[in-house]
Amino acid sequence: MWPRDMKAARTRTPRRPVPKKPSNPCVRDPVGVYCRVRPLSRPDQECCIEVIDETTVQIHPPEGYRIFRNGEYRETQYSFKEVFGALVVQKQLFDVVAKPLVEDLIRGRNGLLFTYGVTGSGKTHTMTGSPGDGGLLPRCLDMIFNSIGPFQAKRFVFKLDDKNGVEVQCEVDALLERQKRDAMPIPKTPSGKRQIDPEFADMINVQDHCKVEDVDEDNVYSVFVSYIEIYNNYIYDLLEEAPFEPIKPKPPQSKVLREDQNHNMYVTGCTEVEVKSTEEAFEVFWRGQKKRRIANTQLNRESSRSHSVFMIKLAQAPLDADGDNVLQEKEQITLSQLSLVDLAGSERTNRTKAEGNRLREAGNINQSLMTLRTCLEVLRENQMCGTNKMVPYRDCKLTHLFKNYFDGEGKVRMIVCVNPKAEDYEESLQVMRFAEMAQEVEVARPADRPICALTPGRRFRNQAFREELQRKLEMRGGPINEETEEQAVSELLLQNFPPLPSCELLDINDDQTLPKLIEVLEKRHKIRQLLSEEIAKTVRAFKTALQEFESSVASKENYVQGKLSEKEKTIAGQKMELERLEKKIKTLEYKIHILEKTTTIYEEDKRNLQQELESKSQQLQRQASDKRRMEARLQGMVTETSVKWEKECERRVAAKQLEMQNKLWVKDEKLKQLKAIVAEPKNEKPERPSRVRDREKPVQRSVSPPPAPSAPPVRLRHRRSRSAGERWVDHKPPSNVPTETVMQPQVPHAITVAAASEKALAKCDKYMLTHQELASDGEIETKLIKGDVFKTRGGGQAVQFTEIETLKQESPTGRKRRSSPSNPDQPEDAADSEWTDVETRCSVAVEMRAGSALGPGYQHHAQPKRRKP
Ligand code: ADP
Ligand code: MG
Repeated sequence: MWPRDMKAARTRTPRRPVPKKPSNPCVRDPVGVYCRVRPLSRPDQECCIEVIDETTVQIHPPEGYRIFRNGEYRETQYSFKEVFGALVVQKQLFDVVAKPLVEDLIRGRNGLLFTYGVTGSGKTHTMTGSPGDGGLLPRCLDMIFNSIGPFQAKRFVFKLDDKNGVEVQCEVDALLERQKRDAMPIPKTPSGKRQIDPEFADMINVQDHCKVEDVDEDNVYSVFVSYIEIYNNYIYDLLEEAPFEPIKPKPPQSKVLREDQNHNMYVTGCTEVEVKSTEEAFEVFWRGQKKRRIANTQLNRESSRSHSVFMIKLAQAPLDADGDNVLQEKEQITLSQLSLVDLAGSERTNRTKAEGNRLREAGNINQSLMTLRTCLEVLRENQMCGTNKMVPYRDCKLTHLFKNYFDGEGKVRMIVCVNPKAEDYEESLQVMRFAEMAQEVEVARPADRPICALTPGRRFRNQAFREELQRKLEMRGGPINEETEEQAVSELLLQNFPPLPSCELLDINDDQTLPKLIEVLEKRHKIRQLLSEEIAKTVRAFKTALQEFESSVASKENYVQGKLSEKEKTIAGQKMELERLEKKIKTLEYKIHILEKTTTIYEEDKRNLQQELESKSQQLQRQASDKRRMEARLQGMVTETSVKWEKECERRVAAKQLEMQNKLWVKDEKLKQLKAIVAEPKNEKPERPSRVRDREKPVQRSVSPPPAPSAPPVRLRHRRSRSAGERWVDHKPPSNVPTETVMQPQVPHAITVAAASEKALAKCDKYMLTHQELASDGEIETKLIKGDVFKTRGGGQAVQFTEIETLKQESPTGRKRRSSPSNPDQPEDAADSEWTDVETRCSVAVEMRAGSALGPGYQHHAQPKRRKP
């Protein structure tokens, strides 16, 4: 450390006003809250957050969490200053969120940027990034150095003190410190640059060329970085070089917070490293990151439960009136700060199932974030309601450290990181609520810092002179290296190179010219030798430098080649994957096509079947109605028939009753006659009852003869007596069966024919047809149908049927043979109906004409044909 009373000029930073009274109380900006929704880890994960538009996200409860309020399914929308979806790249985020903070930093204003969200939501990815995809931190550094690169002060010109202030050292002090630093054994590449860890080389290779355009060129700048971690409410310096103790490493010592005279909070004894390039700054960060990892492993800590704060301080001071040196007036020095905070996971304790020590740690983390929340809530209330409640910044280190950002002035931005997976739903909801509340807190906008009163354009005042000098040196061919002594020696030698004196001998005794010449020549020879030695030295140096350069180029080339082949492999792999996927897509498309076709066929089938079904059901309905109608009709018929039969039965019963009464009467009569016979004298002959009294009285006809003991009324079957002159046509159809009855019709002089012929009829006057038919009881019934033959006026013959004689054979068991046309045992009705039938038949004359014949049945009519003359 250098004594403070040396020519260094200490200064108070004018950047931070008294906290309670912001310099610009009228203009306040709300905390800028942005939301970044990371992509899902797997495409099949259930998603509960949707980006609606550039400023809105919608969060909906997943299956398991569905909340019904008043029977309604609740989906909530949250608005932010801007929302970044899964496809948004780091550069876009940087341009919107961090770039303005870097611009502010260079203009001397403070900024605070933090990432908030649960573990795994992408806070670290957003802040630090990953190889090949640098986050906000390397991008901020890159932009800073791109902007101030040519205007940076030499190392150690600015010097931070241990009370959160900055001073400008004089050139000599700075030089001495530089020499001291150079003497330290720091690994260097042959080209003089620090070796870059290839692990993070990719991260800082942002290739953005992003810079602040109107940087004050009359200022000189210096960047300082520090990196701390707040774990379990203790602050640890991640850049502190602890002495190496391999046996029992000392646990890291925590740091305390102090307030400077401007009421700004700072970490006492915190390492602040001056850096001159993005690589250097990121290397410092990486060192801290490594240390953090080691500490986490050694002390069994949970990295997601610590807050990490990377602070970038930018000191700037104007050049003097000549533009050669930095102004040492303390009022002119500005120190601005940008804090990049990667907060601990905001999840609640039960999520990680912490136990024991870890539970306590988690509790503290929770406490930090809870306090942050409470502070913001109180602030908001104070701002909105005009109240003056005390904001509990001091309750935890995190809020205490940043209290001036909220209480004083600055720009505060927060990126709320969310993982849209369903498992994080509840936690994400909490995060959203916090973010919503934070947006309502306002922070005073920093005032513009006063402009240096010196004339602008000082930096380039002596530019022309410097350029001329450079040109001259180049013309002499020497390497342009201000720092090499060799060049100065060469210059000196060249300047001292003696000119040749005149070598003309004017006199033989001239003993001055030659020795003088010899002396000069010797001197020139010496200088020449020195110069050639110098040249040889330079050539050697140049050769080694060239070799080093070549080897470095080769190693770089190797590295690049390796990377290239790696990338090529990746590309080949991706191509194969792409081809595979394309094939799969084709197969699936084909399958879809087939399925669509099948679906169409099935749909067609379905339609047809439906139509069929409809027609069938209609048919069924029709049949059912037909059936109903038929049933009704049958019902009607049944009723009708039963009524008819009832009537018939009644009629028959009445007839039977009459018959029985008749029988009774006959019996009574007979009894009377018997009585009379008994009572009469013996010579008197009994009156025989007539066989048939009256044809119209079938009851009497059917009465069996009275049982007169003297003359029993046996009716003998007898052949009809024929008159002498009668001639018969005996018509026997050939189909007749022999009956083998005892009583055969025997007609003498008859002409027997198989078919009725006109010739036979002309010779005879009687006609008889033997006809057989099957009776209802299955026996053959032979009928002899008789008739008279007449001559018709037309010259033909006609037959008038007159009588039917029936012959019937019966088996002896019960049934009697009936051969008489008038059987008295026959039921009256049957006899009646038979008679009626025969009568009807016989009443029809059959007109026989020439050529016409009677068939085997009853052919009643043969239409007469006109005879030819
Ligand atoms: P946190 O710091 O919030 O715990 P990380 O930043 O470590 O979460 O993210 C967890 C994992 O998710 C990492 O592997 C990271 O690469 C990945 N990830 C996070 N955000 C994104 C993003 N926007 N795009 C791609 N990967 C991401
Ligand atoms: Mg993290």
